Amino acid sequence: MPLENTNHSDTILQREVKRRRTFAIISHPDAGKTTLTEKLLMYGGAIRSAGTVKAKKSQQFATSDWMEVEKQRGISVASSVMQFEHQNCVINLLDTPGHQDFSEDTYRVLTAVDAALMVIDAAKGVEAQTIKLLEVCRLRKTPVITFINKMDREVRDPLELIDEIENILKLSCAPITWPVGMGKDFAGVYDLQQAQMLKFTPGENQRDQEEIEVLDGADHPYLRNHYPIAHATFKEELDIIEAAATPFDQQSFLDGDVSPVFFGSAINNFGVRDILKALVEWAPSPRPRPARQRIVYPDATDFTGIVFKIQANMNPQHRDRIAFLRICSGEYQQGLKVKHVRSAKPIRLDHAITFMAQERAHLSSAYAGDIIGIPNHGKLRIGDVLTQGEMVELEGIPHFSPEIFKVARLNDPLRAKQLNKALKELGEEGTIQVFDPLEKTGIVLGAVGQLQFETVAHRLLTEYKIDATFETVPIKKAFWIDGQDAHVKRFSQANTNRLARDASGALAFMSPNNAVLEVTMEKWPDITFQSTREIG
Ligand code: GDP
Repeated sequence: MPLENTNHSDTILQREVKRRRTFAIISHPDAGKTTLTEKLLMYGGAIRSAGTVKAKKSQQFATSDWMEVEKQRGISVASSVMQFEHQNCVINLLDTPGHQDFSEDTYRVLTAVDAALMVIDAAKGVEAQTIKLLEVCRLRKTPVITFINKMDREVRDPLELIDEIENILKLSCAPITWPVGMGKDFAGVYDLQQAQMLKFTPGENQRDQEEIEVLDGADHPYLRNHYPIAHATFKEELDIIEAAATPFDQQSFLDGDVSPVFFGSAINNFGVRDILKALVEWAPSPRPRPARQRIVYPDATDFTGIVFKIQANMNPQHRDRIAFLRICSGEYQQGLKVKHVRSAKPIRLDHAITFMAQERAHLSSAYAGDIIGIPNHGKLRIGDVLTQGEMVELEGIPHFSPEIFKVARLNDPLRAKQLNKALKELGEEGTIQVFDPLEKTGIVLGAVGQLQFETVAHRLLTEYKIDATFETVPIKKAFWIDGQDAHVKRFSQANTNRLARDASGALAFMSPNNAVLEVTMEKWPDITFQSTREIG
């Protein structure tokens, strides 16, 4: 039974924790994540005009060497953190890379948030990447807010979209707004709770504030006169959803079972205000985090945080590494002295930073729920815990078995030692998974997508001056193994040729195919084989 930390305070800390909302935006590429991020930031006053997020992104690529890879492909590898205030709430918005090859990065970001905002393209419905990301949310019971975007286009039937989300994502939908028409006939959305129609006016994208005209009731003469067909369809749909849709209930939302659904058009600034309202009023403030030893409560005065992401070379002049740390309890102040749980060594946090719409700002204080960036030279790894209190190991950074395995081949064999060191460093950062075979035949790299290898090749060349190519190896999947010490020892002796250690030293069985795996599992019933592992 985990022991409760009784070291509570009811002062500024509790108030600050209560007003925090930390969430990630997830979507399939092109659904409108960047556009929506920009509008949310505009409301929060973090940026002044539309286009800023994209402009900043491209500026950053222009000055960042290793990001050349994704610049060429027009995708974003970097997950950034943006903080802004809205109605007395401090909102931390975590961006996630949309490209599936970097989904490991996204999984880690999802462990650092208390809620997720899912953006769906109304013309396309539920897409592949959304399915994967929602699986992670479901696993962690993360509350999900749904935004169905692009209603200003000819899109799919809204009832069908709701059905698809419920059936494919296994997420009950509670519509909060409902669209009247679409495309050229998009009249706006009807707020089911307020029984009010929010009128859509296209071309609002240049405005900083959404000023929406409100019409009372579902039968306003304006609707009947201007949008007779759309209005008639809407009335039929309204009957159906009022009779059959899941009602919104905050507890079910917080449990991750029901998602409030909003319709809108991000590019037209329509529906953005509703999302912010949901975040402020319904989304959870920082939640307690389970650790092996006890539960870590956000308002406990001792600072505790977990590194969920490492970003290299955000500033190429300094060749620095930034560890992104989610504060799980307490408060950060400049100069804070903490313990690094893995090494049991003290660290002083002097120059933590935050990222305001991609710009760095030095922080003087931050609270549970916030994300801080800690510059370091490789000391911090993913899953590392920093704490002021007793040593705790926080749970929750997932590791999935890679799908593609390759070895690096050097063009200059004399650089083998440097290559090993470089690959280990990249593995610790989470750029790619590394497996060091017990027989020392050379590090095997494991990735979810091909682009990860390209990122590694580029970074090896630019940062380590190592020219390497990659060759596929006959490995299908890695399984982390566990069992009693004596069993693991015997198993290791008998299977040395198929075993390797990952970046954290954990043993993995590198299986060439299902047949070998099945035979091995049958032969060693005392050993467990897992394709997922939590680090921390
Ligand atoms: P991301 O890949 O999810 O970040 O998507 P973006 O925000 O870059 O948007 C993809 C494309 O959809 C861009 O061309 C946007 O201008 C467009 N888009 C975004 N929101 C809307 C919308 O509400 N209506 C329409 N018609 N287009 C939109």
